[in-house]
Amino acid sequence: MLSFEHRYATLPEPLSVECAATPVANPELIAFNAPLAAELGAKEIPDEATLAAWFSGNQTMPNASPRALGYAGHQFGNFVPQLGDGRALLLGEVVDQHGKRRDVQLKGSGRTPFSRGGDGRSPLGPVLREYLVSEFMAAMGIPTTRALAAVTSGERVVRQLPEPGAVFTRVASSHIRVGTFQFAAVRRDEAALKALADHAIERHYPEAVNAQDPYLALLEAVVARQAALVARWMSIGFIHGVMNTDNCSIAGETIDYGPCAFMEQFDPQKAYSSVDQGKRYAFANQPGIAQWNLARFAETLLPLLNEQGDAGVAQATDAIRRFDGLFSAEQRHLHADKLGLAADSVDAEALMEGLESQMHQGRMDMTATFDALTHYAASPTDEHRDALLALTTQPQSLTAWLEAWQAAQVAGQEEARFAAMRRGNPVIIPRNHRVQEAIDAAYDGDFAPFYTLLGVVTQPFDDSTEARRLAAPATDSEQVLRTFCGT
Ligand code: AMP
Ligand code: MG
Repeated sequence: MLSFEHRYATLPEPLSVECAATPVANPELIAFNAPLAAELGAKEIPDEATLAAWFSGNQTMPNASPRALGYAGHQFGNFVPQLGDGRALLLGEVVDQHGKRRDVQLKGSGRTPFSRGGDGRSPLGPVLREYLVSEFMAAMGIPTTRALAAVTSGERVVRQLPEPGAVFTRVASSHIRVGTFQFAAVRRDEAALKALADHAIERHYPEAVNAQDPYLALLEAVVARQAALVARWMSIGFIHGVMNTDNCSIAGETIDYGPCAFMEQFDPQKAYSSVDQGKRYAFANQPGIAQWNLARFAETLLPLLNEQGDAGVAQATDAIRRFDGLFSAEQRHLHADKLGLAADSVDAEALMEGLESQMHQGRMDMTATFDALTHYAASPTDEHRDALLALTTQPQSLTAWLEAWQAAQVAGQEEARFAAMRRGNPVIIPRNHRVQEAIDAAYDGDFAPFYTLLGVVTQPFDDSTEARRLAAPATDSEQVLRTFCGT
């Protein structure tokens, strides 16, 4: 079905090792992403039983050659020299319809040489969560790994309690992480480091080949993509939850949807992850953490940069410093869209700060606020204004903010304003309680809520009745206060 190539496998040995999947008892297909498969060049799609066998690892797909990849990483600030794919296997790479090389990876397919104490498995909950959230991000146009398939294993995995097991198939531009570079660097394996950097350049930043210093150009390009990515996350309230260097993609995609969550009531200090006690990865900390991760990336490149002389350290430092400006520039235009203001509006930033403080002080739901504001922009009726004011505990100060916002608008631009606002403000996000509801139902054998939710979050700008129902913020009793990686 897929035409695999194995370029990564030709890189020096410690970067990947051959490893077979461990079969599961009774694989059953939950979901298969046919449009994505078509994008990957799949022609004939086999029957469900074959798909279940392939995407559980029970049968090796023709031409696949499973390998576990090595990587290191800073986890919550602490360096671990060897992590690696402890429960994942790269099946190979596929050159897609756009000529882009993409990785296809099984996750939850059994133990590997990198498993340490882990069982190499994944419970069903995190598989469904990653499916929903990554496909939503893709529908939003936010760079992300994708979901190709999900299969239940017919086995139990034991976490706090026994849970149904599942295998997820992830598609990524690559699985090269900051932690992959750290893995080569900490071993002082310069041959592996250079091969990895050359591979990353060829694969993700081919224009860097012609730069005066290709490795510096690689660093600069990764900094730019990460800055843009984190700005996109924050524009819709996304909290990654586990921004360790091993979850920081060199291709600039969102990767690893463990304990991620979308912010509901606006609060810059919000963190959901049960393992993030110190709130290191809280909403507003994300740009600073991304920059910190990129500094760790820069350190790994120093042996290559120093080939160009002592200027390497200074140049790398400059590249990292430029993160702030790149992040702010991206955020400025995202904010202008969200507020329906001109891209060069001098008021947009102050207005956004004002609205953020309204949302925070007035305990407003972030997505509902921007959605109601979009409706009010499209038709500034009393009804739409009242719907917006109903979201805050401080209607008077929000009314004053609305007046300032309307004063900043360019007259006669209603249509463009609405289009920009709709683009920046989804009707629906995968709300934590809805994701949990879909998972709970699946644990009782009912996948219907998962399919329904998947249908609406992958059309995030559609104003259907079903979307409206699932878009509503959680009531007090429905609120999910903590998320778990479920590893
Ligand atoms: P993650 O939290 O998914 O980013 O994983 C961090 C590290 O733990 C990676 O090296 C994973 O491969 C490893 N890991 C997570 N869960 C398991 C598991 N069930 N079995 C083996 N290794 C795991
Ligand atoms: Mg990870």
